[in-house]
Amino acid sequence: MAKIQMTTPIVEMDGDEMTRIIWKMIKDILICPYVDLKTDYYDLGLVHRNETNDQVTIDSANATKKYGVAVKCATITPNAQRMTEYNLKEMWKSPNGTIRAILDGTVFRAPIIVKGITPLLPGWKKPITIARHAYGDVYKNSEMKVADGSTAELVVTDKDGNETRQLIHKFSGSDGIIQGLHNINASIASFARACFNFALDTKQDLWFATKDTISKKYDHTFKDIFQEIFDNEYKEKFDAAGITYFYTLIDDAVARVVRSEGGYIWACKNYDGDVMSDMVATAFGSLGMMTSVLVSPTGVYEYEAAHGTVTRHYYKHLKGEETSTNSVATLFAWTGALRKRGELDGNKELSDFADKLEKATIKTIEDGVMTGDLYVLSNLDNKRKVNTEDFLLEINNRLKATL
Ligand code: NAD
Repeated sequence: MAKIQMTTPIVEMDGDEMTRIIWKMIKDILICPYVDLKTDYYDLGLVHRNETNDQVTIDSANATKKYGVAVKCATITPNAQRMTEYNLKEMWKSPNGTIRAILDGTVFRAPIIVKGITPLLPGWKKPITIARHAYGDVYKNSEMKVADGSTAELVVTDKDGNETRQLIHKFSGSDGIIQGLHNINASIASFARACFNFALDTKQDLWFATKDTISKKYDHTFKDIFQEIFDNEYKEKFDAAGITYFYTLIDDAVARVVRSEGGYIWACKNYDGDVMSDMVATAFGSLGMMTSVLVSPTGVYEYEAAHGTVTRHYYKHLKGEETSTNSVATLFAWTGALRKRGELDGNKELSDFADKLEKATIKTIEDGVMTGDLYVLSNLDNKRKVNTEDFLLEINNRLKATL
C-alpha cells in the first residue's frame, strides 16, 4: 500500500520522560508505516531547551505561526529539583506558557469518551469541552496585606494625569487583605472570537458564564463583549450551523453542567477554567483521556495531551520495569494535527486516516484492551490490562483492518 502523502509539514515539538517514549512509539507503530510524515521538528526535551537557552521553544512557536498546525509532546516545567536532576543553567519557564504568549491563544480541553468507562456523573454521555481564557484576572493580580486602621482605595491615573479614586474599604477593628485585578478588552474579544470559531468548527453549542450580577462592571464587560461580537459577527453563522450561544450566571451554569448530558463548549474566565477543567477531567475518568488544543485568533492550532510527562512511569521504564501508560491523549494530539493539516491542505486522505486511527483506538478500549489507568475504571467484563507498547500494537491490528 502506498503511503499517504503530505504537502505541508506539521510542526513537531518533542518532549520529556514517559511521553517522549510514547511519542516515538506512536510514530513508529501507528503513523510512519502509513503516512509519508513531513514534520518541522523541534526538540523541546529539557536537555535541548537547556542547550539552546530555551531558544528552541521560541523557534517552535514561530514555526507554528508559519505552518498553522503543531503537535506537542508533554514537557517538564523545571522546578528546584529539576535544576539538579538536569544540571540546568536556569530555571527555564514553562514551554506552554512561552508558546501561548507567542500564539496568543485560547486552550480547549476535551475528554475522549469510550463505552465501558462511566463518568462519575453517569448522565454525561458526550464530551464537555472547557475553553479557558488564558489572560489576566487573579493570575496577574496585585495584592497586599493591610493593617487595621488603613484605608484602601482604587486609584486610576489617565493619560493626562487625572486621578479617579474609589474606596475599597476602611479597615477598622481588624487587619485585612486586598487584591487588584485587571483584564483587557482586546484579550476578552479575542477569547470570544476563538470560542465562537471553535464552536462553528466543531458544530457544538457554546455556553459562557460569569458572575455579572455581583460584578456589574468587571464580569459584566465580559458578558457584553461576548454578546456584541456574537450579534455582529456570528449570529447568522450559528443559525446556519444549527448551534446556539447561551449566556448564564456561573452558579446556574455549574448546576446545568452537572445535570446535562454534555456535548457543548463551556467558555470560562481564567480562574473558573482552571478549576472547572480539573473537575471535568476528574469526573470523566482519566487524565490520559483528556486532549487539549490551543487555537490562536489567527487560526493557528497546537494540539497536545492535557497531562504531563508521567514521571513515575518513566522512572519505572528507566529501571527496566514494565509500564502501562495511557497513550490515548498523546495519540489524539497527533490525529488532531493530522486531521487539521488535511483540512487546511484539502488532503482528504490524511484527514480520513486520522479518523480511522481514532476509531481503531476507541475500538481497542471498547474491546476490553486497555492500560492500567483505565483498567481500574472500566466496567467491561472482558477487560484486559496491557503494557504501553502492546496497547499501541493492539490499536495497529484494528487500524490495519480498516485501511
Ligand atoms: P502528570 O500529568 O504527568 O501526572 C499526574 C498523575 O496522573 C500521575 O499520577 C500520573 O501517573 C497520572 N497520569 C497522567 N497521565 C497519565 C497517562 N497518560 N497514563 C497513566 N497515568 C497518567 O503530572 P505531574 O506528575 O504533575 O507532572 C509531571 C511532569 O509533567 C512535571 O515535570 C510537569 O512540569 C510536567 N507537566 C507538563 C505538562 C505539559 O507539558 N502540558 C502538563 C502538566 C505537567
